Amino acid sequence: MSFKFANIDGRASVVEGGAYFDLERISKGSIDHDPMVAIGQLDEIHRVSGNLAGHDSDGALADAKLNAPVPSPRNSFGVGLNYKDHAEESKMDLPKVPVVFTKYPSCITGPFDEVCLRGEMNDYEAELVAVIGRTARDVSVDEAWSHVAGLTIGQDISDRALQLAARPAHFGLGKSRDTYGPIGPILVSPDALDDPNDLPITCDINGERRQDAKTSSLIFDVPFLVSYLSEVMTLEAGDLIFTGTPAGVGMPDKRFLKPGDVIRTSIDGIGVMENICR
Ligand code: ZN
Repeated sequence: MSFKFANIDGRASVVEGGAYFDLERISKGSIDHDPMVAIGQLDEIHRVSGNLAGHDSDGALADAKLNAPVPSPRNSFGVGLNYKDHAEESKMDLPKVPVVFTKYPSCITGPFDEVCLRGEMNDYEAELVAVIGRTARDVSVDEAWSHVAGLTIGQDISDRALQLAARPAHFGLGKSRDTYGPIGPILVSPDALDDPNDLPITCDINGERRQDAKTSSLIFDVPFLVSYLSEVMTLEAGDLIFTGTPAGVGMPDKRFLKPGDVIRTSIDGIGVMENICR
């Protein structure tokens, strides 16, 4: 059974029809309240999600405090230049293998939390984020989706000055300042989406559309990335893969983020994140 997973004020929950259900409560304790533990209990989450009609909800989603669905991942990967139009606007060649960097887990923050800007050259990057749900080692492309708990939205906020301060560029630091990794608002299991390989994704800054693409344009898609990374290291439940951003980032025209800017990021079938810059 498909599910929509949320972190409601620190507790693992599932969402259905505008209401949320506390997973520890409705599973009678078999699913942990901690979202980082619960996200690895995929079979249990699928099972209880098939029987929500038998439970009262814990409240309305609209009244809930949504935190990052995966607040403290063990590993968090970013993928650079993974859309052709973004590689072109960055004046870079198309990659022949995924360009992978570390987005340090300490930068992860909630879907409606503030982004605390440092420096003058901060940029937005709307991204699809895949969340691992089962241990993955040497998995094939065909097997890869079964190791993914779900998909969520991410912003790969980037301090371009810091990123480009070193040669070769140090992506890891430039994309990992505190609060530079909002994710959310919920995590949607792949089977809840009509086509998890083809999702419209947008980014608006102060209401102006800057990015508008479909994830079917990814050069290396989610199954490929999971398979590729799993040949290098064992992936564990909760690990994040920021899959890369389409064209429209601020860098080419030096349209950098300023305090007060509102970053609105959406993916059809998952929802909307809104982060204000401070
Ligand atoms: Zn990125």
